[in-house]
Parts: sequence; structure tokens; C-alpha cells
Amino acid sequence: MVQQVSRVVVVGGGTAGWLTAGIIAARHQGRIKAGEFSVTLIESPDIKIIGVGEGTWPTLRTSLQRMGVSETEFFRECDAAFKQGARFARWTTGAEDDGYYHPLMIPQGFTQLNLAPHWLGDPQGRTFCEAVCPQQQLCDAGLAPKTITTPEYGAIANYAYHLDAGKFAPFLQRHCTQKLAVNHVLADITSVKHAECGDIACVVTRQCGEIAGDLFIDCSGFAALLIGKALGVPFKDCSSILFCDAALAVQIPYESPDAPIASHTISTAQAAGWIWDIGLPTRRGVGYVYSTRHASDEEAHATLLRYVGERHSHLTPRKIPIRSGHRTTFWKNNCVAIGLASGFLEPLESSAIVLVEMSAKWLSEQMPACREVMDIIAARFNDVTHYRWGRIIDFLKLHYVLTQRTDSAFWRDNVDPQSVPDRLRDLLKLWQYQAPWFFDEFDRLEEVFPAASYQYVLYGMGFRTQVEPAALADTRSGAAKLMNDNVAMTRRMCAQLPTNRELLAKIYQYGLQPI
Ligand SMILES: Cc1cc2nc3c(=O)[nH]c(=O)nc-3n(C[C@H](O)[C@H](O)[C@H](O)COP(=O)(O)OP(=O)(O)OC[C@H]3O[C@@H](n4cnc5c(N)ncnc54)[C@H](O)[C@@H]3O)c2cc1C
Repeated sequence: MVQQVSRVVVVGGGTAGWLTAGIIAARHQGRIKAGEFSVTLIESPDIKIIGVGEGTWPTLRTSLQRMGVSETEFFRECDAAFKQGARFARWTTGAEDDGYYHPLMIPQGFTQLNLAPHWLGDPQGRTFCEAVCPQQQLCDAGLAPKTITTPEYGAIANYAYHLDAGKFAPFLQRHCTQKLAVNHVLADITSVKHAECGDIACVVTRQCGEIAGDLFIDCSGFAALLIGKALGVPFKDCSSILFCDAALAVQIPYESPDAPIASHTISTAQAAGWIWDIGLPTRRGVGYVYSTRHASDEEAHATLLRYVGERHSHLTPRKIPIRSGHRTTFWKNNCVAIGLASGFLEPLESSAIVLVEMSAKWLSEQMPACREVMDIIAARFNDVTHYRWGRIIDFLKLHYVLTQRTDSAFWRDNVDPQSVPDRLRDLLKLWQYQAPWFFDEFDRLEEVFPAASYQYVLYGMGFRTQVEPAALADTRSGAAKLMNDNVAMTRRMCAQLPTNRELLAKIYQYGLQPI
């Protein structure tokens, strides 16, 4: 008899659990309404969600839109602001004026012409980001990526969000239960019962007895209740590549209610790690991500205090341990791990929530019809997810290997060739002779970090690719036109766009046009 997959059980009600439940429920609304499919989310009434994770990728706009979320309500209820990229300060030389942007817009004409070699041949005193995209100037001026007449989720400049993670999960919960018919169970899972084949037959809860399902999604955070504890999938440690293993997080009030809101995440390198600084409408979220091998907790605390200023010395930062790595398998039997249960890497490029979205979307599209085909789909999911973790590790490490800093053991250890993954080492060799581009080996349909991201980090950090002037002759006039277009577009946007705070005030008052 064919065993249909019609009962999806999500364990965990953090950002990962609710996004996953919402993305799947939205995709399968027809079957849910017909009573043929159900999504149930179980979360502990007592175990708190992690409550950090304030930086996102533009993919979140599509995910929220697909779930039928109103962007206006999202801004109003999640203390959300616009994010147009990240500025990395003091990562290359450590000097006061050392900094570069990783924006969210791809370089002008990216799919037709690679501007990197042209900029390398003649930078004309401009940074790479400034030469190929408007967002360095937009961020420097604290401008929003759209105006009040741009419809919900539409953009003039590409954007993601900064948000309050403590408000985001309850917001998604309301939407998923009220609009998408996701069942919500508040209960503590105490054990798991297995079927003969090793599948999970049901989870046993303290308050609501046994809850059975056909497919279980483990979003239980660092506890990894199902994938780790029940199914015993090992954890692959990556701390020999990415050293940071702790964070100290604190929330800082603005000096005044109308203080500017930064358009980008500010990431400032320190002696044993880096500090994130994220501007929300009502406060800033600031945290020091550091390596406990290179700094004691006391030193880390002192570094964070120096950054936020003595007037905030009464605030007690929260320490969050980071275990750098991921599960060796992400889908085993009838259980898929998504979110922190599947692994975590330091939040340098906000790669966690985007991976949740990509995994949930993939799963919602490839939802197995029956148990008989589940292993085939699981193998594909494991393949694509392994690829993504590998690429993210490479990309995060790129920020460290390009440093010229030698002022502390943390930075010196980070350039040790032993700590650099083989693929990244090979790519760095290749990129000495050819700039990464659209047609590079970034061959998957959906890359977490496309070749454009590599360009911004490489050339932002002073990496040089050899350029043969004669090889540029054929495309020189096309490149000059694209760079001139960029100058004109930047000027137009700077004249047209309001500041973040101005636009957010209008959104609170009038709302964005629904689409
Ligand atoms: C310092 C730090 C900074 C970060 N910054 C970013 C960032 O800028 N951008 C980004 O994309 N990501 C970031 N992340 C990652 C991000 O916070 C997470 O990916 C995201 O919040 C998802 O968490 P989660 O839902 O997997 O887990 P959690 O939020 O931990 O949720 C776990 C859920 O499981 C439930 N649960 C646990 N045990 C049981 C049980 N026995 N029974 C029932 N339920 C149970 C809990 O009640 C809870 O609902 C950061 C992480 C850290 C540590």
C-alpha cells in the first residue's frame, strides 16, 4: 500500500520553524483547504527561541510575499528596517579608514559584461562597489531603497531587512495560524517513537500525548532533538576554518528618537573577531562575535564596551555560545533538519535565515508524494544542502584570508593555509588570473552567494586579478557605458530617495501600496 505524505510536523517555533511551516503551508494551501494535507508546528511553552538573528537577505521579501504577509504589517510589528548590504570596517589593514561595502545590487550589466577587469585596469580613484553599483553612496547617505509610492516588496534599489527576531517569530505565528491554517501545539517533546524501518512514527509530548506524522522537520534549534538526539546524525565541526565560537549581544538605545537608521549592517573587525551593529527603528542590536581561543570573556566584554561607549556600561550583554559546523546529513529517514538544528556558522553574512528559506522552499516544491519516493528526494536535498554549506564556509572564510592584519594571533592564525578549504584555495589561485563572474563555476540554480558577492569582497579587500589590457579592448566601450550609467543612476537615486527614518515614518502612517 502506498504510504502518502500528508501530515507534516514541524518541531520548534523559532524563525526557522515558523518560516518553514509558512512556506510549506502557503505552497500547499489547496490541499490543506481540501483536508488532504496538514502542517502542525509543536513548540515548547518554556524553552525560549534564540531571539537573535537580525540581518537577512533579499530572499526574505519573496518568502514573505509568497506566504501572503503584508509588508506594511511586517514593518509595523517586527521593528523592521531596510538593509542594503554590509560595510566591513577594519578587515583589511585595521586602519581607521579601512572599509568596503558588500551591497545587495549586482554590478551593472552583470549578466552581459564583467566590469571587474575594466575597473581593475583603471579604477579612476573609485572603489569597486562605487564604480559598479549605487549602493555605497545610498548607504553612506542613510537612504531608503524605495519611496512610499513603491508597492509592497517592490524596490528601487535591492534590499533585505533588519528585524527584531523576538518579534518576528510571534508575528509569523499569528500569520501562519490565522491565514495559512497551520496547527499550533504548545508542548514539550520528551521522546520519540520509531517505526520498524527507523523512521520517526511520532513525537511524545508532556502535555498533549503522542503526535504522529509522515514527515518531521527538526527546527528545534541547537537542541537538534530529532536529527541529533533521536536519529544520531553526527555533527561536523568547522572550527578549524572559522574560529569564532561565542557572541556577546546587547541592545543599545538611540541617542534620540529621530536618530538616523543605518541602511546597512556595520561589521567592524576587532582583535579576536568582529562586532555587528544593526540599526532597527527603535534601537540598535550590537554584538561581538569572537574566538574564545584568542580572547577571554573579560577581554571580549571590554572590547564590546569600548565599541558601544562607557555610557552603556550598565547593560549586561548576553553570551551565546556558537558551535561552528553542520550535520553530516540533513535529511535522514523521514526527518529533515532546518535552521540551527542543521548547523550554524558565525553570522558574518547573515547566511542562516536565507538558508532556512532556501531549504523550506526546496522542500515545499519537492514535497514527496509518498514514503516510497522520500529517499530519492532526501538524497537530492542532502546533495544541494551540502553544496550550500560548503559554499557558505568558503565565502565566510574569504573575508578572513584576504586580511593584511598581523596585529593579533586571531588574524595571523586566520591566514594559515591549513585553515583554508581546498576549493577556496584553488579559487583564489584562479582569480589571480581571471575575475570571478556570472559564468564562473557557480553553477547551481540558486546560489546563496553569487559570483557578484565574491567580487565585492575580493576587490573591496584589495585582491588583485592580473588584467591584460589588450583582452579588454573589445568590451572597453561597453564597460565605460555601464559605468557611466551607474553614475547617472546613483545621482538619480540619491535625489529621489528619502532617508530610512522618513520612509519608515510614512509606512507607519500611510502604509505601502499592497500588490
Ligand atoms: C549570535 C547569533 C547571531 C545571529 N545573527 C543572525 C543574522 O544576523 N542573520 C541570520 O540569518 N541568522 C542569524 N543567526 C541565526 C538565527 O538566529 C537562527 O538561524 C534563527 O533564529 C533560527 O533559529 P531556530 O528557529 O533554528 O532555533 P530557535 O530560535 O532556537 O528555536 C528553537 C525552537 O525549538 C523549540 N524546542 C526546543 N526544544 C524543544 C522541546 N523539547 N520540545 C518542544 N520544542 C522544543 C523551542 O521552544 C523553540 O521554539 C544568529 C545566531 C546567533 C547565535
